[in-house]
Amino acid sequence: MDLLQKLKDPQVLKDLTEDAVVWATQHGLVMGLATPTPAAAVVHAPLALTPVPFPAGTFREAEAAAGAFAALVDAVAEDDAYLLATLRPTAAHDDFGVLAHLRSDYMLHTPTGSLLQVEINTIGVSFACLGGLTACLHGHLLGRLGAGAAERAALPPNDALDQLADALGAAAQAYGVEGAVVVMVVQPGERNLYDQQWAQTRLWERHGVRTLRRTLSELARDAELGADRRLRVGGAVAAVVYFRAGYVPEDYAGEAEWAARERVERSDAFKCPSVAYQLAGAKKVQQDLARPGQVERFLPDEAQAALVRRFFAGLWGLEDLADPDTAAAVGAALRDPGAFVLKPQREGGGHNLYGAELRARLERGGPGLGAYVLMQRILPPINRSVMVRGGEAVEADTLSELGIFSVLVRRGGEVLVSRGAGHLVRTKAAESDEGGVAAGYGVLDSPFLV
Ligand code: ADP
Ligand code: MG
Ligand code: MG
Repeated sequence: MDLLQKLKDPQVLKDLTEDAVVWATQHGLVMGLATPTPAAAVVHAPLALTPVPFPAGTFREAEAAAGAFAALVDAVAEDDAYLLATLRPTAAHDDFGVLAHLRSDYMLHTPTGSLLQVEINTIGVSFACLGGLTACLHGHLLGRLGAGAAERAALPPNDALDQLADALGAAAQAYGVEGAVVVMVVQPGERNLYDQQWAQTRLWERHGVRTLRRTLSELARDAELGADRRLRVGGAVAAVVYFRAGYVPEDYAGEAEWAARERVERSDAFKCPSVAYQLAGAKKVQQDLARPGQVERFLPDEAQAALVRRFFAGLWGLEDLADPDTAAAVGAALRDPGAFVLKPQREGGGHNLYGAELRARLERGGPGLGAYVLMQRILPPINRSVMVRGGEAVEADTLSELGIFSVLVRRGGEVLVSRGAGHLVRTKAAESDEGGVAAGYGVLDSPFLV
């Protein structure tokens, strides 16, 4: 069934758009508006009206690699020497609780047909909840367009929301203190709070664990670290500290916020993520792991290492421009900047350099260049999509990025939970370099397996 063909009929498009917007609001597929109370003024999340075709075999491959990527990040995060011992807090961590909620992001590379990893996120991973709801919305809309059971089966099940709630619940249970809570560290005025609140609602429903939402500034004021290493927030013991903030410098307004982060880190609460996990997700680490022999160092199981490696794109560090491989890559990027991306050590979208800006930065050189990694530009297929924002439908050429979630709960040496945890597709206009949904470039989507 050619879904987009049906949407050429203006009446069908209008009806389906209204259905989508209403369904989204009815089911909490929403974001806050930029008002003083984003919880109370909501709008449907930006979304694609129909799911995007995606090769089924490739999708399954990415799903199958979720556990191996979690194992890789876990091993890297454990290697103090590797991750700059000075950045590691001094508290003993042999019995530390680890909770990881990861999302490995990929795009199809058209010239080779392979799926290549864009990056892996280890902190503040968003859209597990709204992404799962988007899959439900697309199931509903396909039905409205007359799709049969076979076509609806092309939408893979997506349990990302329950998986996140269950991982939080498993960590809280492993912490083992009756009445202990999850502290979700949030940004003030967060517009994506429904995605976050879904996790806490579902955690309450499925596991009876309460969540406190606090900014780093509030934690700076209210979080106390006891001699027993318990973190107490307003009288409650924190079983888990779940960061949906703390990955951009602006989240640390001053010394007090850094001190709060350190108190959390020194506590015995499960941290999602720990500082080590956050560092393990750095783009510099991704680039370093792509060097020969590095993945193999952390994943001794050859099959597992190979599973991860097949997704690596070309990546180069820029700390030693005299290195022949680096010099060759930089030379190629100067000649053809459209084939590369220059990435600083930042998260949250909007920081990468492309095209003329990339060339100018490489030409300027200087020691600051070592803070970037140079990456092969992935060239995904261009699709036609209808994107709906603020109730308005716009058809455009688009690119899609697939994210595969995984969760890992570990207490000391004992892995309690490690599994793939659903997926997300984000789609953006083909001419836009960056793709953030929250930042207003992209829309939530889901894969239609072909
Ligand atoms: P962030 O941590 O800020 O999300 P990303 O590495 O995901 O950083 O880059 C942001 C966006 O830039 C991605 O979602 C993707 O759309 C685009 N992008 C990043 N790396 C590449 C690449 N190698 N090729 C093509 N596009 C890329
Ligand atoms: Mg990221
Ligand atoms: Mg990203």
